[in-house]
Amino acid sequence: MNNNRLALVIGGSRGIGKAIVLRLAQAGFDLCVTYQSNHQAAQEVKTAVEALGRSCNLLSFDLADRASVRAALTPLLEKQCPDVLVYNAGIAKDNLLAFMKDEEWDAVLHTNLDGFFNVTKPVIFEMIRMKRGRIVVISSISGQIGQAGQVNYSASKAGLIGAVKALAREVGRKNILVNVVAPGVIETEMTEALPKDLILPLIPLHRFGSSEEVAAVVNFLCSEPCMYIHGQVIGVNGGMAI
Ligand code: NAP
Repeated sequence: MNNNRLALVIGGSRGIGKAIVLRLAQAGFDLCVTYQSNHQAAQEVKTAVEALGRSCNLLSFDLADRASVRAALTPLLEKQCPDVLVYNAGIAKDNLLAFMKDEEWDAVLHTNLDGFFNVTKPVIFEMIRMKRGRIVVISSISGQIGQAGQVNYSASKAGLIGAVKALAREVGRKNILVNVVAPGVIETEMTEALPKDLILPLIPLHRFGSSEEVAAVVNFLCSEPCMYIHGQVIGVNGGMAI
């Protein structure tokens, strides 16, 4: 039995998830990091966590495949219930709704929203048993205010906000805090191709955010002093939604 605090980060191999993993490792958590298929990126994260003196266990599965998720998580949960779950993984397949392919709708909803259920159900069961836990779900400003060309993505991210609010009402009395972090436009592979000159005027801070800025908020929500923030949506968006 390992007594170190454990954080399970879903989609922690790249971008915002990687920054969250490193921030939590700096805060003293051992890590279990999941990803889909980019083994090299995942190995790099593991090496970086170990260089910080923490352990890092890697798991790969497709979030949309319920059986694979459960098969991968069961041995972990039998060994140790994570103190923290960060549900970060997400994909976008943008198109105007009139032209959206069935596969674009299905892939985004199955990964972003069904994936949350596939992961969180077995984890919450163990957290309730332990009577402790922190859950942070990464949504998006698109789920708060909607974004043209992202009806599928916005629906999945708004769905996560509804799910967290309902879950927060279910498990607050079990000493499990559940919150959402909703990033605006963050410098990552996902936003590389965006037209900066058109978007910057919409952001009062007039710059894109960094993954580290999102990770700092996630870390705060998982920290000891943060005991009374529950069922909330924390925007990290430079004022893009006020
Ligand atoms: P990213 O760089 O594309 O990384 C996504 C992570 O999720 C990777 O670890 C990836 O694994 C994993 N993943 C993707 N699909 C998966 C699947 N089907 N099964 C299992 N794992 C899967 O993403 P990001 O840009 O850092 O964004 C992270 C989160 O923030 C997402 O939920 C995104 O919607 C949200 N967000 C991002 C922005 C932004 O500006 N970037 C803004 C608002 C919200 P592999 O490495 O194996 O592919």
